Amino acid sequence: MGEAAERRVLDAVPDGLLIGGQWRPATGRREFGVEDPATRTQLRTVADASAEDSRAALDAAVEAQPAWAATAPRERAEILRRAFEAMTKRADDLALLMTLEHGKPVAESKAEVAYGAEFFRWFSEETARIAGSFSTAPAGNLRLLTLKQPVGPCLLITPWNFPLAMGTRKIGPAIAAGCTMVMKPAKQTPLSMLMLAQILREAGLPDGVLNVVTAEDPSVVSEPLLADDRLRKLSFTGSTGVGKKLIEMSAGQVLRTSMELGGNAPFLVFADADLDRAVEGAMIAKMRNMGQACTSANRFLVHSNVAGEFTERLVEKMAALVPGRGTEEGVTLGPLIDQAAIDKVDGLVSDAVSRGAKLLLGGKAGDGPGYFYEPTVLTDIPDGVRLTCEEIFGPVAAIRTFDDDETAIAEANATEYGLVAYAFTADFDRALRVAERLESGMVGLNVGLVSNPAAPFGGVKQSGLGREGGAVGIEEYVETKYVALPT
Ligand code: NAD
Repeated sequence: MGEAAERRVLDAVPDGLLIGGQWRPATGRREFGVEDPATRTQLRTVADASAEDSRAALDAAVEAQPAWAATAPRERAEILRRAFEAMTKRADDLALLMTLEHGKPVAESKAEVAYGAEFFRWFSEETARIAGSFSTAPAGNLRLLTLKQPVGPCLLITPWNFPLAMGTRKIGPAIAAGCTMVMKPAKQTPLSMLMLAQILREAGLPDGVLNVVTAEDPSVVSEPLLADDRLRKLSFTGSTGVGKKLIEMSAGQVLRTSMELGGNAPFLVFADADLDRAVEGAMIAKMRNMGQACTSANRFLVHSNVAGEFTERLVEKMAALVPGRGTEEGVTLGPLIDQAAIDKVDGLVSDAVSRGAKLLLGGKAGDGPGYFYEPTVLTDIPDGVRLTCEEIFGPVAAIRTFDDDETAIAEANATEYGLVAYAFTADFDRALRVAERLESGMVGLNVGLVSNPAAPFGGVKQSGLGREGGAVGIEEYVETKYVALPT
C-alpha cells in the first residue's frame, strides 16, 4: 500500500479533542502515542485528556442537547445518511487507518468500515419512525398518550477490537434519537474514531452533539462524568470486569446503562452437520479479527463421530493462514493488539497443555517484532481449564467432544457469559430445539457470523444489558413518557 498512503491517512486524522465543535489540545498539551501492533512503532500521538477536559466535553453536550432534541427527525436522518455515504466513499482510507492502529488485514478492515457505515444507514432510516402511542384506558376514563423523547447527554465508551463499528453502533441510534454524546474510544485505537468524528462534522452534525475525548487513563473520563447528574446515560462496550465496575459507579446517579460485555461462545457441531459449512463457519467465528471478538468461538463442542474429520480440516485451514502486517498483500492473519494480549493467550494455552490438552498446531508467539501469535489448535481439553472459562481473545481453537445433545447443551450453557452461541446441524427440529435452549442473546444456526445492523445485538447473563442495532436499538436512547388526559 505504500508509506506515502500511510502517512497521508495518518496526517488526515484531526489533532486534539473534539469539544463543542472545536478541535483543541488537552490541558497542558498532554499527549500519548498510538502504536502499530504489527511493527511496534509509534504511528502518531493524540491528545491525552484530563478530568477538566472531560467535564468541558460534557458541558458542550449538555449545552447542545435542547436544540438537538428539537431538530426535525428528517434533519437527523439526513446527517446520518450523508455520513454513511462519506464513509463508503472514503472506505479505503478508513480501512488503511484501522489496519495501521489495530493490525487486522485490510480486507477485514474494509468489511468493518462497510458494517460500521451500515449502522448509519440503518438508523438514518429508523429516525423518522420513532413513535409513541395513543390509546384509551380500559375503564374508558382516560386517554393514554406515550411520547418517545431522547434520553439526554450520553457517555459512550468503546473497545479497541472494532474501532469504528462499536462506535457507529452507538452514535447512529444516539443521533437518530436526538441525544448528544461524549465519546471515549480505547487508547489503543483512537485514530479511526477521530476520523469518524471529522466525517460527521462534514456531514453537518451541529457543534457539541458529538464530543470526542481521548485519554490514556480512562478514569479521567468515567469518574467525573458518572458522578455528574447532567449525564443521563452510559453505553459501554468492553470487558465484563470493567462493565461491572462502571455499573457500580453508575449506581450513584441511577444512570441508564447499556452494556455490551464479554463472551465465551460455544460452537456446537452435531453429527449430522454439513462439515464444509461447519469448518467455514468455524474459521469465521474463530479467526475473524485474529480471534479478538466478543463473538469469537471460545469452546468447540463436536460430536465424537465427526470430531476427527472436523479437527483435521480446521487444522489444515488454520495452518494455511498467512501472518503479517495487515497492509501487505496476501496477509490473512494480523497481530494481537499488545503484549498483554500475547501473555494472556500464551498463559491460557500453557495452562491447558500442562493439564493434559493435546497441541495439534501452533502454541506459541509468532515471529516479531509485532505481537503475533501462531494459529493454535488444542484437543482433549480436560474439565475446568482456564480457556474454557475465560475469553481467549486470540487465534486458539479448543476442541472437546460430546456424544449426546443433552450433554452438549449443558456444557454450552455452563458459563457465566451468554452473548452468542453457534450450532451446526442439518436437522431442522434439532436446530430449533437447541437454539431455544442455549442461554445466549444470539444464536448462529449453520452460520459463523451473526452481526448485522438490522438485528438486535446483545447478551444475557454477564454478557450484558440491552441491545444494539435492529428496530430495538433505538430504544436504548429514548425515554417513554406517559401523559394522561381525561376522555
Ligand atoms: P476493556 O473493558 O478493557 O476496555 C473497553 C473500554 O473501556 C476502553 O475504551 C477502555 O479504555 C475503557 N475503560 C477501561 N477501564 C475504564 C474505566 N475505569 N473507566 C472508563 N472506561 C474504562 O475492553 P477491551 O480490552 O478494550 O475490549 C475487549 C473486551 O470487549 C472483550 O471482553 C470483548 O468481549 C468485549 N467486547 C464486547 C462486545 C459486545 O458487543 N458485547 C463487542 C466488542 C468487544
